[in-house]
Parts: sequence; structure tokens; C-alpha cells
Amino acid sequence: MSSPVLPTYADVEAAAARIAGVAHCTPVLTSSTADALVGARVFFKCENFQRMGAFKFRGGYNAISKLTPAQKQAGVLTFSSGNHAQAIALAAKLLGVSATIVMPLDAPAAKRAATEGYGGKVVTYDRYKEDRAAVARALQEKTGAVLIPPYDHDDVIAGQGTAAKELIEEVGQLDYLLTPLGGGGLLSGSLLSAGALSPACKVYGVEPEAGNDGQQSLRKGEVVRIDTPKTLADGAATPYLGDITFPIIKQRVTDIVTVSDAQLVQTMKFFAERMKMVVEPTGCLAAAAVLQKVVSLPAGARVGVVLSGGNVDLAAYGKLLAG
Ligand SMILES: *Cc1c(COP(=O)(O)O)cnc(C)c1O
Repeated sequence: MSSPVLPTYADVEAAAARIAGVAHCTPVLTSSTADALVGARVFFKCENFQRMGAFKFRGGYNAISKLTPAQKQAGVLTFSSGNHAQAIALAAKLLGVSATIVMPLDAPAAKRAATEGYGGKVVTYDRYKEDRAAVARALQEKTGAVLIPPYDHDDVIAGQGTAAKELIEEVGQLDYLLTPLGGGGLLSGSLLSAGALSPACKVYGVEPEAGNDGQQSLRKGEVVRIDTPKTLADGAATPYLGDITFPIIKQRVTDIVTVSDAQLVQTMKFFAERMKMVVEPTGCLAAAAVLQKVVSLPAGARVGVVLSGGNVDLAAYGKLLAG
């Protein structure tokens, strides 16, 4: 297989210009309690306050805005029941493009409603009987819509990299940067930005313990596929990294570490109680690695942490917090 031409920091800069004034430049928050706990200076990049509630708006909007007029006319298509679905639905609506989202029949009603609320057309399939890729392909053939995958796509990666770009531009050089890791769009984009703007920064990806395919892949030097893991971090329950995201990660990442579901719950409680913020379990991955000292940090280190999203099912969230 020929190696792909990988996106670069110039693509992140171009993405930043495209999303300017549309995506929120999210706040960077600090907490003296967090700093005291870890003995470092921690900067939380709050993508839980991004439009539609997660960083995925950045990549989705960048990818759709790059389409040709003919492609925009044909519409976009994706398969996801999570934040990427909402990101594509909202970005498409803002750009006057129609969006079709392929979702399992049994996707949570709240997620379906949110996607439809942003104007996305939801097409369901039976995940026990049908293959979603085949369903998407059939739709694509019928409508000519452009498929925008959740992470393994140059323009998606470049868009996701804008969050770390904003963070470093706002707070200055970092010694460490940690991001959640699912399929690797966020981590690979962040690596491009950190490499250009804060080259000495050590960058870590953080996965759920039950789904450490990224860590296994890094150790083995090739993409390792696992069964879809069971974890509270549903946004990072991806069973393998991408053909574009993995080479970037392999080349540049310092390491990939894991945290348990219990550590995610502790971290959600920390944000609710101390910082008055709702952060979804997946959004807590990187913060959990810092606050629960999974990564040891030298005293006084300057540490960037991406809080990747804040979309929760309130009933489930309440139960976790009360437990
Ligand atoms: C999608 C998602 C992730 C994982 O991002 P990848 O680009 O797939 O690694 C992390 N956190 C949240 C909230 C997400 O929606």
C-alpha cells in the first residue's frame, strides 16, 4: 500500500481561517484546586462549550466548507450516532448543504432528536442485520452525496487541530498536552499544532482502559483492531485508528495511556463540583490522566488538557454523579 500524503500544520491554519467566526473560540479555564492536586499549571481547553457541544464541529465544518459547489449540491452523508452526526448536521445546515446521517434503529432517542434538530435527515438501519457501510454506500450511489467520516479524513483532522492551535496561541508554550483518543482525529490534529507552535511539548493520547487499541497499535507499530469496547467513554469506543491518523500519531506522539471508567466518573465529579461544568465521560479522558496522576508531571509543568465534549444523557449523568 502506498503511504498517504499526510496533512500538515498549514492545513490546520487553513482550517482555522475557514471556521473563524463560525466555530466558537472556546474558553481556557484553570483551577487552583487542580493545580494544587497535581503540582502543575493546568490549562483546560473547554470544547464542551463548542457549538453542538464538542470539538467535532471544527472538523465537520472545515470538511464541508471545502467541498466544490457541485459536491455541496449533492449533499453530505455520514454514519454515526454520536457527536460527529450532530457536527455534520449543524455544519451542513450553516453551509446550506443537505446532510444524511445513517444511524442504528436503536440509537438513543435523544441523539437522534439532536441530529434532527440541527436539520439532519436520519436514515436508520438494523445493526444486527445490515452493514452500515453498505447502507451508506447504497445511499451514496443513489444520491451522489459526499461521505464525511468521523476521523480518518484530512480536512476533519485539520479542523480538529484548531483547538490545540487556539490553546497554545492563548496560553503560550506548553510542556505537556493531553487529548482524548478515539479514532485519532483530535490527537493527530493536535500533534500538528503542538509540533508547529510548541515543539518541545510532550503530547499524550488518552484512551479508555477497555479499548486500548491505540496503545496496542503504538507498541506494535501497526494498526491493531479490537472488538468494540464497553466503556462509559462512548465517543472513544472506536475499535481501530485510521490510515491517516495512525501514521501522524506514530510519528509524533509521546505516548498513549489509559484510564478506567471509575477514573472518568471521579473526573466528571471534579468538574461538576469544583468547576461547575458538565463534561461527558469521553471528554474527561485527558483530564482523568492528569488529575488521577496516570501521567507523572514534573513540579510546575505547564499542561494543556483538551476537554473534548459535554453532551450527556442527563439521567445517566445524574446517576453517575450521585453514585
Ligand atoms: C469523537 C470524540 C472523541 C474522540 O475523537 P477522535 O478524533 O475519534 O479520536 C473524544 N471526545 C469526544 C467528546 C468525541 O465526541
